[in-house]
Amino acid sequence: MLPRIAIVGRPNVGKSTLFNRLAGRKLAIVDDTPGVTRDRKEVEARLGHRPVLLLDTAGLEEAPPDTVAGRMRASSEIAIRQADLVLFVTDARAGLTPSDRAFAAWLRRQSVPVLLIANKTEGRAGGMAAMEAYELGLGDPVAISAEHGEGIADLYTTAIGMLPEEEDPEAQERDRPLRLAIVGRPNAGKSTLLNALVGEERMITGPEPGLTRDAVAVEWTDETGGKVRLVDTAGMRKKARISEHLEQMSVGATISALKEAEVAVLVLDATLGMDEQDLRIARLAEREGRAVVIAYNKWDAVEDRAAARRALEDVLQASLAQLKGITVVALSAMTGKGVERLMPAVRQTVERWNRRIPTGELNRWFEAAVARHAPPLVDGRRVKLRYATMPKARPPTVAVFGPRAEDLPEDYRRYLVNSFREAFDMPGVPIRLHGRGGK
Ligand code: GDP
Ligand code: GDP
Repeated sequence: MLPRIAIVGRPNVGKSTLFNRLAGRKLAIVDDTPGVTRDRKEVEARLGHRPVLLLDTAGLEEAPPDTVAGRMRASSEIAIRQADLVLFVTDARAGLTPSDRAFAAWLRRQSVPVLLIANKTEGRAGGMAAMEAYELGLGDPVAISAEHGEGIADLYTTAIGMLPEEEDPEAQERDRPLRLAIVGRPNAGKSTLLNALVGEERMITGPEPGLTRDAVAVEWTDETGGKVRLVDTAGMRKKARISEHLEQMSVGATISALKEAEVAVLVLDATLGMDEQDLRIARLAEREGRAVVIAYNKWDAVEDRAAARRALEDVLQASLAQLKGITVVALSAMTGKGVERLMPAVRQTVERWNRRIPTGELNRWFEAAVARHAPPLVDGRRVKLRYATMPKARPPTVAVFGPRAEDLPEDYRRYLVNSFREAFDMPGVPIRLHGRGGK
């Protein structure tokens, strides 16, 4: 994935000019006619040798027409969520305005790195004026002239230094162990399953950096060739045998394991089915936004398998709609039968949980979904939905925008979530939907 860069700042500071300069071509940008909606674009560009994506936020400025600062914020908020670096542009000729200051104060509280840019600094007067930008508390400004192409090399060097390390994403992905939590009520078979998954010979243990010398991590290589790390629920224990590694879990321990994990395997005792306690654990995993796969354990001891399957399906359908389509792997941790299917299923679910949908594809879905089933009236007025973005994955998070979008009723939100889940094939994954309004 290419790093994403958002260019923000109040109107007329030269954002479009800078955008065009970085993109290296003249784009047909900017029509000042209000109400002309434009597609959000991502344009491939280069900062020196480094390929990046520039997020075009120009179309968003038309959104909520209140104050300048409010508008800047509304349009930038979305871009900033998707960005790895924000270029905050100021106009060194016009000088700082109250909205620059208010916006800077807000930007300082965001977690994304910000590079301050003083534009229009061609000539001596501009150079002096750039000094003023220090007051914004966003570090050293880079003085440029977007129009005349001055200071751009400087901008490249500084910006590249602020981007995440360039990496070979595939190698990274292969090397990073998957963080797995094994959860379930006592006696479901968690320890037995862990033993079956790990197998003594595949287990890698060793001193953990940062922990005491005796502490060990349970880490192994699964049948897909990927590394897996157990997120321990009871804390790393001294020379523990792995079967002792998973203790009876308190709710607190379960929650902290879930927070640390990417994916949870919920172990159920198939001879008992899924009860309220199991559901509570599944809901905790959903609440923490984790991908979940069910290991339907002790399958060897189940007499009527068809009935056991049906019973589970009924419970899932009635009581766990948030994780609709969750993958269930029937297995026997004790005999090992079916265990080999668990990790491939886990990997697949994690892939879905990780997935980012490109904005264009997302909005094609969104328009069709809204056309098929329009948002209902709220207080006698129709909620207008304009577009959607996916500010993050892990778990997949969709933001839908439009006046009063924050008031969308629950059943309509559920409709959108289910439609999204189906359109992009994300069963068993918690999905977040945020309505973002404006007056
Ligand atoms: P945006 O509203 O922030 O996108 O600003 P634009 O890129 O549309 O630029 C606003 C105005 O500032 C235009 O008239 C540009 O020609 C002008 N401008 C942009 N960059 C510079 C610059 O480096 N120096 C000077 N003097 N004017 C600039
Ligand atoms: P934990 O408390 O969830 O860690 O559960 P354990 O792994 O300690 O297992 C609880 C009991 O269930 C033990 O007596 C296991 O032998 C038994 N058990 C675990 N997996 C299976 C299985 O696949 N089939 C059968 N029949 N028994 C199992």
